Amino acid sequence: MLEVDGLVMEYGGFRAVDGCSLTVDEGSITGLIGPNGAGKTTLFNLIAGAFPPSAGRIRYLGDDITALSTDRRFRRGLVRTFQIPHEFHRLSTLENLMMVPPSQAGEGLLANWLAPGKVTRDEKRVRARAEETLEFLELTHVAQERAGNLSGGQKKLLELGRTMMTEAKLVLLDEPAAGVNRTLLRKLEEKIAILNRERGYTFILIEHDMEMIEKLCDPVVCMAEGRVLIEGDFATVRSDPRVLEAYLGETVSGSDEEAGA
Ligand code: ATP
Repeated sequence: MLEVDGLVMEYGGFRAVDGCSLTVDEGSITGLIGPNGAGKTTLFNLIAGAFPPSAGRIRYLGDDITALSTDRRFRRGLVRTFQIPHEFHRLSTLENLMMVPPSQAGEGLLANWLAPGKVTRDEKRVRARAEETLEFLELTHVAQERAGNLSGGQKKLLELGRTMMTEAKLVLLDEPAAGVNRTLLRKLEEKIAILNRERGYTFILIEHDMEMIEKLCDPVVCMAEGRVLIEGDFATVRSDPRVLEAYLGETVSGSDEEAGA
């Protein structure tokens, strides 16, 4: 589904991503791990199209998308979610979901004036989909709550819900577990697994929570210094001495309290 080939991202001579190559199979949940500064987020940004790479190619569903804008990638179903949930905090949970669809006719004043009937129909359709999404995520009880008042875990579920309002095929999840309490974490894992199994979403997931990686991901890709260090199932990657070394190197430099995870 996705082929990243020799990707490089250079900042003034420093290579945050340094010749990174990997493939992602349709229907998989690929875990992306590695110590702080390994280049995981930069790789995500490149895949999502936030900025062009200094070198290398990205192919998605058979097409070279290296030069495509974020928006065009999004319309092809390549959706990135953010490390920090960015809900509209004054809007309700339901309204946050209803804001998402890019093709919603009610967006334009002109559309409203030209085809008010279509706008009403579209809004009904979008509302129904938003309500179904809330039900799936077990957030119906907070549908009318301001999104800003939701807990960290509920905001992550809402973020997943916004993805579900699009025609997503490949979803890039950046640290979904960060700041989420244990109970909601289990729920988030369950929903990601269902979306993968039953609705065909392919995921790439950056995560420092190794329990989540172990439960959900196969394969697991470990990055270090901008490159793929090793790829395999969780047990193989965990027991590889190079992985331990990459995390220990980080501990020695004193930059990550999670290195022992
Ligand atoms: P973490 O697990 O902490 O999120 P990461 O693996 O996602 O780390 P990146 O955020 O991709 O790592 O950063 C990789 C390296 O590139 C780091 O050394 C970082 O300081 C550097 N870097 C990232 N963005 C920039 C930038 N815009 N300008 C200069 N250096 C950058």
